[in-house]
Amino acid sequence: TRAPTVNLVAVAFEARGADGLSRGSGLPDALFAHDGQITKRPVRALALSVLGPCPGRRLWDIGAGSGSISVEWALGGGSAIAVEAREDRAANIRSNAEAFGLEHKITVIAGTAPEALATLDAPDAVFIGGGLDRAMFDAVWSRLAPGTRLVAHSVTLETEALLGELHQQHGGELMRVEIAHAAPLGRYRAWETTRPMVQWSTVR
Ligand code: SAH
Repeated sequence: TRAPTVNLVAVAFEARGADGLSRGSGLPDALFAHDGQITKRPVRALALSVLGPCPGRRLWDIGAGSGSISVEWALGGGSAIAVEAREDRAANIRSNAEAFGLEHKITVIAGTAPEALATLDAPDAVFIGGGLDRAMFDAVWSRLAPGTRLVAHSVTLETEALLGELHQQHGGELMRVEIAHAAPLGRYRAWETTRPMVQWSTVR
């Protein structure tokens, strides 16, 4: 998909506030260039609500995909470092940052965490949307100052098991959500459920 510059005005009435974009988190997925790997709107809103974007704060967005989390964080006045292993997706992040006029707020790193994190300034908040395993967690956690927020999302059983362990060790909040959308079923409608998502959020 392409950079959605024109869509900012055209696509989503619901995304518009008096001076452009809505202040609410969870902008429409269609506002972002993506290849299907994007944290979908309702789930993204759940991430942003615990990350708590604030002016002047720095986010590490690890496994940034389309960069939608970084964009919404930066719309809140902070800066984001988007780390994405795949170059084609890193290109999407760059074009999304540009489409939202946030190039100066979003640094894109095409590389693999945790190695790619080595030289970065410490963050105020971390979102882990991909690539989480014990080694990555240990590397990230050791870099965080007290008070740093960390939010991780998982849709796989393996990562979910790790989040269960991390919650036991470090506390915080463990949440599981399963969202269903009404969709046509013949002449009727039925619920189509998305994959359950587990979110672990904590403060270092
Ligand atoms: N939050 C993103 C979606 C993340 S999908 C969005 O809203 O668009 C998970 C992403 O993590 C994928 O793009 C994958 O390429 C990336 N990824 C997986 N392991 C990684 C690692 N170790 N370092 C960096 N990126 C990684």
